[in-house]
Order: sequence, then structure tokens, then C-alpha cells
Amino acid sequence: MPKPFNRTINLLQIYRQLRPFIRPYRKMIIGTLLLTFVGALLAQVNPLVLKYTVDEVTQLTQLPHPMSEGIHVLVVISAVLLGKELLNIFIQFGQKFYGEKIRISTSSVLAQSVIDKILLYRVSYFNDENHESGKLQVRIDRGIESLTKLVQNFFIDILPLFSNAIIALVIMYMQNVYVGLVSTVVVPIYFYVSALQAKKLAGVRRTLRNQRERKTSGLLNLINSIMVIKSFVRERFEGEKQYDLQMKLMDSQLFTRRTNFIYDGLKTFIEQFGVVLIILLTVFLVLDQQMTIGAIMLHILLFNNVSAPIRQLHRIYDDMNDAMIYAEGFFDILEADDQTEPNGTFEALELQGKFELKNVNFTYPNGMAALKDVSMLIENGKTTALVGLSGAGKSTVINLLCKFYLPTSGEILLDDTPLNDFENAALRDDIGLVLQKNHIFQGSIEDNIRYGNMDATFEEIVQAAKKAYLHDQILDLPEQYRHDATQLSGGQQQRIAIARLFLKDPPIIFLDEPTASLDAIATEQIKNSLDAIKQGRTVVIISHSLSQILDADRIYVMKKGEVAENGTHDELMAMNGVYREIFDASARSLNLDKLVSSFREN
Ligand code: ADP
Repeated sequence: MPKPFNRTINLLQIYRQLRPFIRPYRKMIIGTLLLTFVGALLAQVNPLVLKYTVDEVTQLTQLPHPMSEGIHVLVVISAVLLGKELLNIFIQFGQKFYGEKIRISTSSVLAQSVIDKILLYRVSYFNDENHESGKLQVRIDRGIESLTKLVQNFFIDILPLFSNAIIALVIMYMQNVYVGLVSTVVVPIYFYVSALQAKKLAGVRRTLRNQRERKTSGLLNLINSIMVIKSFVRERFEGEKQYDLQMKLMDSQLFTRRTNFIYDGLKTFIEQFGVVLIILLTVFLVLDQQMTIGAIMLHILLFNNVSAPIRQLHRIYDDMNDAMIYAEGFFDILEADDQTEPNGTFEALELQGKFELKNVNFTYPNGMAALKDVSMLIENGKTTALVGLSGAGKSTVINLLCKFYLPTSGEILLDDTPLNDFENAALRDDIGLVLQKNHIFQGSIEDNIRYGNMDATFEEIVQAAKKAYLHDQILDLPEQYRHDATQLSGGQQQRIAIARLFLKDPPIIFLDEPTASLDAIATEQIKNSLDAIKQGRTVVIISHSLSQILDADRIYVMKKGEVAENGTHDELMAMNGVYREIFDASARSLNLDKLVSSFREN
């Protein structure tokens, strides 16, 4: 069961989840915290110096020669202020630079961890509609972005500002308890308003996230389906779908902005109200002769230090909310440990390649029952063909044999050992898979063929391309083996997949309609190459091509997820059942009568 997506997450949980990623930077973090503390102490120097100045100058003005007496005051003030600023240069640099370094390092570690993790997830994880590539990408990007912003905020804004505020408050209390109390009272009110604001926006932010994800995946789908859209002249229809999404996104964005502006105004007012209270109170205390004039300046500046983080609070709140919302989606991906591909430990020294399916049932995660009580014997060193109408479950059998999915019930044995016990990588190293539509990676033809064997020399790649009848075509290309493989035609890409197979040279070969996108001449050439490589290997082939089926040692005929018949071509023809039906229909579709008569005429 996948975890429910909208699980609420709080800061403490985020911290716990982030801890392993920031742990390696412990020393740097402690150093940054120390610098922050010193920085916070230095921030109180200005208010204190100003108080000293005002009080000293007030006294000096009452002396007969204030100028000559005041020189030492000027020297002290200048020395302290300049000295503090000099020190501050280093403190600020160290604190900001190391804060950034922690942020950048965390971001890289998170990005790499999530890639390493999802590569281990089972195939069905990626089939879930919640895990479409566009959605995963947005969730990962936003998750990393907001988490690193949180780390950055913590070291560059939250910590320095709040330590500033606390130290300033302590000094205020030490000077006068009432002034301290007044400035303390304003803070929770401000927090309360910020919390209200955050609450009001929480739901919208979630909606905003979903809308952004849908917009991105919508755009990706649009680009991928551009030919279909154009051929059905659905540009307007698709455009309107995107327009609706955009309008909804705009509404959410405007609502967010409007709410922010209203609350921000309210918060500025509260802050200024605090300043007014401090002025009134300190002036009163000065007139009552409980304080010197300098104390008015001191408290206004100290209150400024207290309210500085408060002024940033909504932005910090915003970023924290972002982090809480996006971290949730991100950690759902990073911590889906239950989705890690199950693995065995058995590694065969030399595989024979005999597969046995015993009463295998299989249902896809979306509930589609694709295989029902399937039993098959795939003999080693022989070619077994899977035949049946499309949707009968043939590719599903191959998916299970590659361990991309595990049977829901029943058992698959390879060389009499349960397939589940096999170590995935070792097993797949021995299997060559050619699909109807094969994936071509961004990059050159050479690199794409090399995917079959990363250690292959260029000469070996050329040999493989020759066997796949691709070499001559490559020589005609401007950049030859360096040509961009994604630019090749469907048939040429198919040959790349076959060249990969030759390069990999595995004892077990699964072919899922390997010649479906090839022309007649290429099909014949490839068939010859495949016939050569098939010798002595276990081959399972799914094909609609009669010639390839006829060559098989054994044929399994599938219908609606079940094995309907099996045997050799002759046995199956004699049964007069499903196979005969498919065979006759294929023969008719070839217009055999006319073909035969035209062969005769020539
Ligand atoms: P065949 O190869 O014989 O054409 P498949 O094995 O591809 O048939 O499909 C068998 C059934 O399983 C079909 O009904 C198909 O829709 C369904 N199916 C195939 N792949 C998936 C998947 N990844 N998720 C859900 N259902 C699937």
C-alpha cells in the first residue's frame, strides 16, 4: 500500500529526516553557530554605544569646556564602533559563507540520494499514476529547493536574527523590567497573526502545488503527443485544457498574494505599535527620572533588534510552510523503502536457462488481472514462441521472467531454483531483452550500443552494429558513430537494441516483437542475425511474424491471460483451435492466394 500522499509533517519531523544528510557537516555547523552567537553579541554594541554617547554628551554639555573634555569620549566611541565593524566583516563572511556551504552541500546530498534511491525501486512504483515522471520531477525539484532554503534560512536568517532578538531582550530586561515586558508582549501577538496567516494559506499552498505539478506534467504530455494532437486537429481542445489549469493556478496565486498583503499590513501596524509603546514608556521613565535620556535611544534600537526577526517572520514562515508541504512529497519519494525491489542472493555459476512457470497468477498494481493460472516450460537451449492476440498477457510473462514484477501467486523456477531467490543484477546480466519499442538514451549511437557492455571496445561496437545490419547505415550519417541516436528512425533504433543484444551476448534472450518496426528487407536481415545468435541459447520470442513462429521449438498460445494451447506448429494446427484461428487469419491478411499465384506466374 503506498503511503497516503497528504500526510502532515512538522518541523521536528523534517529535522529528524534531514539530520542524516546534514550530519557530515557537524563541525561546520557548530562553527557557524559560534560565529552566529558572536555576531548576535556584536549587534548589541550600537545601541549600547549610543546610550553611552547620549548620556556622556548630555553631561559634557553641562561642563565649562565640553570640547576639550569630550575628546576622550569621541576616541572611545570611534574605536569601539570601528573595531566592531572590522570584526563584523569576518564574522558575517564566515557565518554567511559556511551557512551557504551547508546549504549547497545538503542540496547536493539530497539530490544524489533521491536518484540513488529511486533507481532501486521496483518497476511497479513507476507505473503508479501518482508517480508519473512529471509529477516525480516537480516533487523532487521543489522538495530539494524548499528543504535547502529551510537550511539556508535557519543558518542565515532564523538563527542570527533570533539570537539577536533574545540577547537584545535580555539587555532590555536588565535595564528595566517594564520596558522588557512591553517588548515581550508584542512578540506573541505578532506570532499569532503570522500563524493565522499561515493557516489561511496552508490549504491553498497544497492546491497550488498540485496545480503546478499538473501544469508541468500537462506540458510534458503535450510536447510528447504533439503529432497526435496535430493529426486530430486538437490544438484548440488541448490549449483550452491548459488554459483552464492556468486560470485555476492564477486564482490560487492571487488569493495567496491578497492574503499575504492584508496580513503583512496588519503585522507592520503591530510592530509600529510596539515602537510607539516603547517610546511612550521610556520617555515617561526619563521624565520620572528613573532613566537617562540615552536609555530612550538604547531601548528603541534594542526593540529594533527584537522586531527584526519578526519583520522577517512571514517570509520565514512562508519558506517553512513551503518546506513542510514540499518536504512531505519529497520524503515520500526518498523514504519509500517498501518500494525497493525485492532481491535474492542466489547467483548461478553458469545458467542453463530452463524456466518453469507453475500456476502463476499475476495482477498489475492497478488491479488488472493479466495472468491466470499460467503454467509453462521454457526449455534451455530452445526457442519458445508466445502467440496470442494483443493484450493476451505475452509481454507480462516476459516481465515476470525478468523479475520486473513478482507473481501474485504461483511460482517461477529457473534451473529448478525459485526465480525470487536469484540476485536481480546477476540474473539480468544473463538476460538479453529486445522490445518492440526500445529505449534510446540521449547521446551518440556508439554510447547507445555500448549500453549492452560498458567495457566494449569501439571495434566490438562496430562488430555488433554489423551483425544488426546497422553499420552501413551508420557510415552514411554525417557524424557516423557519434551521430545523435535519438534522431534515428524507429527501425534504426530497433537495430541499436539488437546491436546491444549482440554486444551483451547473454545466454538467455527475450524478444518481444523484435522486428515489428522493421521493413521487409530489414526483417529478413535481422531474422538471419537472430537465428545465428539463437543457437544454443534459451530464447523466448513474442511475434506476429509467421516465419519466426514457425521456427520455434515450442509454441504457447495465450488467450485472455491464460495458456490456451501449446505444442509444435504441426501439433497446434492439428488441434484446430485458437492457434489455427490466429494462423489462418495471419495467412489471410497476407493475401496468400494472390501471393502464391504471383510467385507461380514468375
Ligand atoms: P500482450 O503482450 O499479449 O499484448 P500484455 O502482457 O502487454 O499483453 O498485457 C496483458 C494485460 O495487462 C493487458 O490487458 C494490459 O492492458 C495489461 N497491462 C499491461 N501492462 C500493464 C501495466 N503496466 N499496468 C497495468 N496493466 C497492464
